[in-house]
Amino acid sequence: MITVGVNGYGTIGKRVADAVTQQPDMELAGVAKTRPNFEAQAAVRKEYPLYAAVEERIELFEEAGIDLAGSVTDLVAESDVVVDACPSGIGADNKSMYESFDTPALYQGGEDADLVDVSFNARGNYSAAAGASHVRVVSCNTTGLSRLLAPLQERYGVEKARVTLVRRGGDPGQTSRGPINDILPNPITIPSHHGPDVNTVFPDLDIDTLGMKVPATLMHVHSVNVTLESSPTAADVRDLLREESRLFLVPESMAIDGAGKLKEFAHDAGRPRGDVWENCIWEESISMEGDDLYLFEAIHQESDVVPENIDAIRAVTETADASESIATTNETLGIGL
Ligand code: NAD
Repeated sequence: MITVGVNGYGTIGKRVADAVTQQPDMELAGVAKTRPNFEAQAAVRKEYPLYAAVEERIELFEEAGIDLAGSVTDLVAESDVVVDACPSGIGADNKSMYESFDTPALYQGGEDADLVDVSFNARGNYSAAAGASHVRVVSCNTTGLSRLLAPLQERYGVEKARVTLVRRGGDPGQTSRGPINDILPNPITIPSHHGPDVNTVFPDLDIDTLGMKVPATLMHVHSVNVTLESSPTAADVRDLLREESRLFLVPESMAIDGAGKLKEFAHDAGRPRGDVWENCIWEESISMEGDDLYLFEAIHQESDVVPENIDAIRAVTETADASESIATTNETLGIGL
């Protein structure tokens, strides 16, 4: 059994903690929280051992009537692997704590790539994380792009990828984010940071990305153009992508016209929190013009990195190879729409 601690129990951390409890080869040591908010109370309801992330705030938990199992250092000491799902930049502050316990740590996409030994995507470079002490599970957008580009590169070769990322302004709970009535080139400078981030997984891939932000919370949408090194038909590409377990080809018959209906579909399917772990590629959009592939895909920013964190735990502990881990994670979470 791999004992996993989760430090930072917000959007990503709470999903990873739930996913850990569903794995046959993992147990959850507990989760660390900074304050006794609604998410801390949810952890208590699920009977997850709760640890104080900040010693000075232990009193706040006592005042809220929440029993703590200890402080975050106790959690790290108990864990074989820690998943750090703290806000961007805090993971870097925590690195020395993990090192002092000699506990391997996974960080999230908000941390800099140079913090870690390996930037990770299960489909892209699983084996690179074998035995690593510090691994970064790349961001939601980079995860989505890596899953799409890996099979294209392997089957056809990628001459150049160009992607415009239409990004949600914030997650549903992020009331301070925006815009609420605007369409922003964001970042305004080109290329955006997303392409270089894909290169942390695929160093040799030629990719340029542009970013925008819009008043939406549901998902990101990518407008993708990939110049291939050969000229398959659109049907060939559809067949290739359909074989990928974390790519969902949205059929025309479903009449799903955007992120809203995708989320509704996930809720109707009984997905926890309406999560969509797979890239959602509109099947009708998959088109070839000469060597150029075009498509639209939607990425659920709150959940697509969750299976990747689970696979990264197995990769760093060297307890399964990529295909075994991906299969187990897919089966236990119910991935595959
Ligand atoms: P979040 O704000 O929802 O959750 C972070 C949690 O960490 C909060 O509960 C916060 O109270 C807690 N926290 C703050 N300081 C802490 C500390 N010192 N110790 C322990 N916990 C602390 O953030 P999130 O959206 O889950 O993002 C976490 C990481 O995941 C970031 O690197 C982010 O870039 C990355 N990420 C986020 C998304 C997304 O869309 N939300 C997608 C992919 C990756």
